[in-house]
Amino acid sequence: MSLPTTPQSWANRLTKILSLHQAAHGLPRFPIDVATLAQDFSRQVYPESPITIVKGLQLSKGVEGMLMPHPNGSGEWGIVYNETIRSPGRRNFTLAHELGHYLLHRHAHPSGLECTNRNMADWDERRNKIEGEANTFASYLLMPLDDFRAQIKGRSIDIDVMTELAERYAVSLTAAILKWMTITEKRAMIVVGKEGFIDWAWSSEPLLKSGVFYRARQVVTELPPASLAAREVDWDTGRHGHQHPAGVWASSEPVREITVFSPSNEMSISLLLYPDSPPSRWEMAELEEEPTLDTFDKFMGDEAR
Ligand SMILES: [Zn+2]
Repeated sequence: MSLPTTPQSWANRLTKILSLHQAAHGLPRFPIDVATLAQDFSRQVYPESPITIVKGLQLSKGVEGMLMPHPNGSGEWGIVYNETIRSPGRRNFTLAHELGHYLLHRHAHPSGLECTNRNMADWDERRNKIEGEANTFASYLLMPLDDFRAQIKGRSIDIDVMTELAERYAVSLTAAILKWMTITEKRAMIVVGKEGFIDWAWSSEPLLKSGVFYRARQVVTELPPASLAAREVDWDTGRHGHQHPAGVWASSEPVREITVFSPSNEMSISLLLYPDSPPSRWEMAELEEEPTLDTFDKFMGDEAR
């Protein structure tokens, strides 16, 4: 049987093997144990260069994981995560990402690859080919489309649903949201904030098509002062979300923002839900005639009441 060559086809191949294996042993289908899968599968398919190390290491700050040749020069490989990261979901997603690099990129990168926290959010293969491919692989392996679609069918999306999905698949909350972003017909954006600024943001295809996005990777952009993310609201307020008037977030539209903060508050993850239809050109012209600067004051006034 010939071996797959694309991220999706590799993920599909492993998904088929796993489904049969789990069913035969009466084991649950999810979450996927990447550590065991990586070692068992690579030993069978590439006995000359299997993955024999899967573990956490003390890596520098900002580094999420690595694909590395075995230091003994035997041709074996290791996939590692940064053990200072406590989240089991992030660790598991990182291992799947590194397994993707092993399957797709190890020949072109014989000295291995080091992947940053941001690389885990590089899901756009047009922007960053190999990181995008590793993420596509990890996303399809850990969250197969048919199961993911079945989980969200008929449900309105909020952070609770996303948290549940992140737990089902043992992935980071960011990965679960990004997966949803890639398939949704909703106009939505994920914004990751750090130290008062937008670290990166990603618009769903329908939102992007209506021209709403942040160039956060190229341009330094402050988190909007009225946003939940910038105000560092408490956990319940963030999770419950807030319907902002037009003018708080990108585009002249009201936006529902739901935000969670990482335990140490070093970053915020906001899910922005825009109205299903973008404003028409006629409405846009009307909006532009209104004074725009008082939306922040109005919003803060509403809050104080
Ligand atoms: Zn990578």
